[in-house]
Amino acid sequence: MTTPTRAVVLGGGWAGMLTAHVLARHLESVTVVERDLLPDGPLHRKGQPQARHVHILWSSGAGIVENLLPGTIERLLAAGARQIGWNRDLVTLTASGWQYRFPATTYAMMCTRPLLDWVVRDAILSGGRIEVKQGTEVVGLVGDRSKVSGVLVRDVAGGEPRPLEADLVVDATGRASRLGRWLAGLGLSAVEQDVVDAGVGYATRMFKAPEGVSGTFPAVMVAADHRTRSPGRFGVVYPQEGGRWLVTLTSTRGAPLPTHEDEFTGFAKMLRHPIVSDLIGVAEPISPIFPSHSGANQRLYPERMAQWPQGLLVIGDSLAAFNPVYGHGMSTAARAAEALDRQLAGDDFGEGGTQRVQRALSEVVDDPWIMAGLKDIQYVNCRIRTDDPRLTDPDTPERLRFSDYVADRSIRSPKVSEVATSVLSLNTPQKALGDSHFLSLLRTDTKYPELVEPPFHPDELEMVGLKPPGNAANGVLG
Ligand SMILES: Cc1cc2nc3c(=O)[nH]c(=O)nc-3n(C[C@H](O)[C@H](O)[C@H](O)COP(=O)(O)OP(=O)(O)OC[C@H]3O[C@@H](n4cnc5c(N)ncnc54)[C@H](O)[C@@H]3O)c2cc1C
Repeated sequence: MTTPTRAVVLGGGWAGMLTAHVLARHLESVTVVERDLLPDGPLHRKGQPQARHVHILWSSGAGIVENLLPGTIERLLAAGARQIGWNRDLVTLTASGWQYRFPATTYAMMCTRPLLDWVVRDAILSGGRIEVKQGTEVVGLVGDRSKVSGVLVRDVAGGEPRPLEADLVVDATGRASRLGRWLAGLGLSAVEQDVVDAGVGYATRMFKAPEGVSGTFPAVMVAADHRTRSPGRFGVVYPQEGGRWLVTLTSTRGAPLPTHEDEFTGFAKMLRHPIVSDLIGVAEPISPIFPSHSGANQRLYPERMAQWPQGLLVIGDSLAAFNPVYGHGMSTAARAAEALDRQLAGDDFGEGGTQRVQRALSEVVDDPWIMAGLKDIQYVNCRIRTDDPRLTDPDTPERLRFSDYVADRSIRSPKVSEVATSVLSLNTPQKALGDSHFLSLLRTDTKYPELVEPPFHPDELEMVGLKPPGNAANGVLG
């Protein structure tokens, strides 16, 4: 296959838009097909129900977006987003205990998902090089077993399916992608899929932060302890633009999530520390509770197919979706868009080009896949369908013990924390946790004493009308 000239991107969400932007740098024509009508502002829409829930964009993803679309971070900050210095601006109870607030070595963008998507989409579409067919649904692929030559689309409002020609089709329709069914329509067999499903669910409610809370109030997170072998319960209070806090309560299979308003605080009180329920208690609820049950890790392996049609790629959540607790989906999609850009900047697709490009996209999802998988298999009642040896072979318990040991050190040792945070934020490959530099840090790095209280500055708690405990400034080193 020579370099394609006409691409159709299926889905105009986060991955679809970044992919379209990258394609438009190399190809003559790029069309995005999106089922929803895309709002002209930071508004919710039907096709993106996850946007009701907390989202962070790690620095790895934010940096790529900034390179592709200079000025994005400034625009987000101007609209009220926070750039949270990790771990400086965060009060976290991890499975191992309270995390010291070391000086920030990386960051995550924190704001509502509609704001994030709108700022990025607006910058991409203002380039004028991408056509968007909104209110249009993809219903199938056009082509045969060896080559895709377009898609079948129809208006959501009604009407017969019609073909849309393209020599490159990229599926970015998200976690609920129908790619398997569309491939069957071409006579191809199913793509192998792995699933690690801890039964993660979210219940989220927006609050107005107390009057006078400044833009420096930290993000707060209370995590579950997987080592208890009981269903996990998490809670976060994340600052959002407009003086709001988005509170998400999360559980793994076996712990029912709150659906009614009176259960919300009750669930927060069951977390391993009452800080989330204390903060809810001083804030004013301004939205209903929104549920989500899209928390399974699921990964396709198109690169393993004996036959894969030329001109078809899969990216974003369609390719691999992760337990959202780790905040990896959007950064992974941005990293895949960057990988696609690199591939397209090469000579041309050439012989076997589609498979080579798809392999490059699939490599990007491997680190977040294994990180999430290794954590989630430890939750009681986790359902697993995978033959990934890293999750199933006899050494797995050893790997889990090492990962727990790193987590124990990382909350109290600044240099260990720096490397672990860099891996968690997808800035550094996971294999760095096994190299000699890191192993020697585990021996030599300072080990601060265990924290017994959440590491707030006293003035932070006073800001929200809560009483600081006696030794409240402990643990704030950043
Ligand atoms: C509760 C929750 C919390 C999350 N938190 C985080 C987080 O903190 N950080 C993070 O990085 N990631 C997080 N994620 C993951 C993140 O939301 C996804 O990784 C990201 O949205 C993936 O983008 P996407 O474009 O692949 O899919 P989507 O954003 O789902 O977009 C898919 C698009 O395709 C369209 N579409 C679907 N089918 C069709 C069709 N047949 N025809 C036309 N259009 C179609 C949809 O309308 C939609 O616009 C979270 C996910 C969930 C569920």
